[in-house]
Amino acid sequence: MDQSAIDMLRKSKVAQQYHLIDGKPVPASSGETLDVITPIDGSVLTSIARGTSVDMDAAIGSARTAFEDGRWKNMPPAARKRIMHKWADLIETNALELAVLGVRDNGTEISMAIKAEPMSAAATIRYYAEAIDKLYGEIAPTQDDVLGLIHHEPVGVVGAIIPWNFPLMIGAWKIGPALAVGNSVVVKPPETASLTLIRLAELALEAGIPAGVLNVITGEGSIVGEAMALSMDVDVLAFTGSGSTGRRLLEYSARSNMKRVYLELGGKSPHIIFNDTDDLDKAAKVVAGGIFRNSGQVCVAGSRLLVQKDIQKDFVAAVVKAAETMQPGDPLQIDTQIGAINSAAQLEQNLAAVDKAKSEGADILLGGVRSLEETGGFYMGPTIVDRVNPTDSLFQKEVFGPVLSVTTFEDEATAISLANGTDYGLAAGVWTSNLSRAHRMVRALHCGVVHVNTYGGPDVTVPLGGVGQSGNGSDKSLHAISKYQNLKTAWMQL
Ligand code: NAD
Repeated sequence: MDQSAIDMLRKSKVAQQYHLIDGKPVPASSGETLDVITPIDGSVLTSIARGTSVDMDAAIGSARTAFEDGRWKNMPPAARKRIMHKWADLIETNALELAVLGVRDNGTEISMAIKAEPMSAAATIRYYAEAIDKLYGEIAPTQDDVLGLIHHEPVGVVGAIIPWNFPLMIGAWKIGPALAVGNSVVVKPPETASLTLIRLAELALEAGIPAGVLNVITGEGSIVGEAMALSMDVDVLAFTGSGSTGRRLLEYSARSNMKRVYLELGGKSPHIIFNDTDDLDKAAKVVAGGIFRNSGQVCVAGSRLLVQKDIQKDFVAAVVKAAETMQPGDPLQIDTQIGAINSAAQLEQNLAAVDKAKSEGADILLGGVRSLEETGGFYMGPTIVDRVNPTDSLFQKEVFGPVLSVTTFEDEATAISLANGTDYGLAAGVWTSNLSRAHRMVRALHCGVVHVNTYGGPDVTVPLGGVGQSGNGSDKSLHAISKYQNLKTAWMQL
């Protein structure tokens, strides 16, 4: 990455943005727009179309027509694969432009955004492109005089509702497998980070994905998101976001066509440090990175530090030391380790969570306040809150900001019960040099992914999904494909 290229791109004017329906840019039917505020300095970057239910219905109609006439699903698999590879090539060619645009929109530090956004999206699209001509149907082990064939068919129209923390990466996790198996897709980007998803869909058209197969409708969740979820013509809804929205989507499904709803929700992931950890200094740095990168706006962020009592003092001091070196700064400087908070509203929520923790008797060891206010942007430094009890709200409720709670435990059994002591179940981290303990912990922890002696890792080859109130179904890996398919049996008398 080259700082001067980033500096050139950051000055470029961002044109007013439109929906993408049937391969064409379309303004909102109401003519209304929403301002896009950049969290870097709080100024207006551009505007997006403020979609209506009429716009959403038009996009769903376009997706349905494209699906039924077979312009994509009936294309030979090798041709679909070539187009998706070309799309990934275009994303890579435009990676810096996409990353800078995304950072101006959502505030993630560019050092993280370049890998986690365009490069990760390109890798995901390539992975599912490769799968296209390697997926087979099945023949059932029936008696001799019949033949039972199991077809895996595309579901039809997939609606994808995306959050603002990593719109390209999370968008690709849904759009990639859905398109690979022949569906049409309508994307609803987040209000505060729509720009890169619109560009992603433009690049799909340029690569040769036919018009109507991938549509984008921008605007508020409570208007266009709701219209998508209530539609009688969307077959599968794939969502990443908060639990409260997820709950609503299940209701909308029940009130409409009972569409399948896949939910990737929040977490309150425990990062557990045993006193037999080989390299406690390394663990402290990873704990800090695991919560503070992207200002804690990461679904799997290790937001609850659980540390064994006899090493608590020294270990927490090491985490504070590591965190002190990670102060927020201009997200478009290559060496900035923590960028901006996505919106003024999210910053308020973060500060309110810290205030609540104080009122519940916790100690603020670091941070807890707004930083860089003079820039006009939304920033908050790493915040570490000690003496958090299992019943405190900071232990139980996701903040989705740079806030780490600290709680101690005496033994393995207590560590497990504390770790599993919330409604969530997304991720966990365990540090130990005892192999048997590592395996016992992996089995005992109630969540979708357990990291051992590391934390995080964006590889597309493994599933990511939660249990409990962290959601259902998984993104990534070949397992994600079945979310976008129906099984059909052909039962033939021979
Ligand atoms: P959110 O639920 O407010 O918004 C997510 C999306 O839902 C946005 O596109 C929004 O416009 C839309 N939406 C909002 N209200 C809607 C409605 N009534 N009907 C339909 N759509 C609606 O969440 P957010 O604040 O954007 O994202 C943060 C949350 O996402 C956090 O809880 C975080 O943990 C979670 N998250 C989870 C994962 C994961 O993989 N599990 C990944 C990233 C983020």
